[in-house]
Amino acid sequence: MINVKKLNKSFGDLHVLKDVDITVKESDVVCLIGASGSGKSTLLRCLNFLEINDNGQIIIEGEEIKADTHDLNEVRQKIGMVFQHFNLFPHKNVIENIIEAPVHVKGVSKAQAIEEARELLAKVGLSDKEKVYPSKLSGGQKQRVAIARALAMKPDIMLFDEPTSALDPELVGEVLATMKELAEEGMTMVVVTHEMGFAREVADWVVYMHGGRIVEVGHPDDIFENPVEERTREFLSKTF
Ligand code: ATP
Ligand code: MG
Repeated sequence: MINVKKLNKSFGDLHVLKDVDITVKESDVVCLIGASGSGKSTLLRCLNFLEINDNGQIIIEGEEIKADTHDLNEVRQKIGMVFQHFNLFPHKNVIENIIEAPVHVKGVSKAQAIEEARELLAKVGLSDKEKVYPSKLSGGQKQRVAIARALAMKPDIMLFDEPTSALDPELVGEVLATMKELAEEGMTMVVVTHEMGFAREVADWVVYMHGGRIVEVGHPDDIFENPVEERTREFLSKTF
């Protein structure tokens, strides 16, 4: 469903993404791993058009999406994104956070948006937190609200950028469990993560990035047990 071909992105003189090719099929869970600065977030942001690639192609459902021919806000509605630092609206309570975009961007009625938000809150295990403000939630709860908020737009694909990196260790599990459930329901997901256990267990494909290039793509068993590339082996030996 998403096909990226020869994607390049520079910030000034810094060439961050170099001829990146990647395919994400429907219901695939792709985990993106690699050292700090290797370009993982930039790639994810290009997939969501928060950054615009310099050249190369991003083809979604067979159609090449370009900044000059497409309404990128419309395209983004189909692509949910969850960040490391939650980015909830601090002055809105949990349910107001979740219904904001469906009501104001999509024009869903408030009653319907609330009904759907309640279903999503049940799904992420936070039905009792509807009226609570983000400052009163734990990091893991905030991140589950952020996931529910992204899902409220009924995206075709969900992008996660290190969703558990800002969490205390004891809160990581609840967020990964929510993501695993989503994967099992068939959501298409691209996940930047340092959680190798999650990648191993949940990913269909693991993509290793180094210096702005995709060095190796493989099934988790192959990547973790028997990587082809020396650089992948080196990275993983430092990670464990
Ligand atoms: P991390 O694991 O630390 O999150 P990453 O793999 O996500 O790293 P990116 O955030 O994609 O890496 O950054 C890749 C390179 O691009 C880095 O050298 C970074 O400093 C640079 N970079 C990223 N965003 C910008 C920007 N908006 N302007 C200038 N340079 C940027
Ligand atoms: Mg990053």
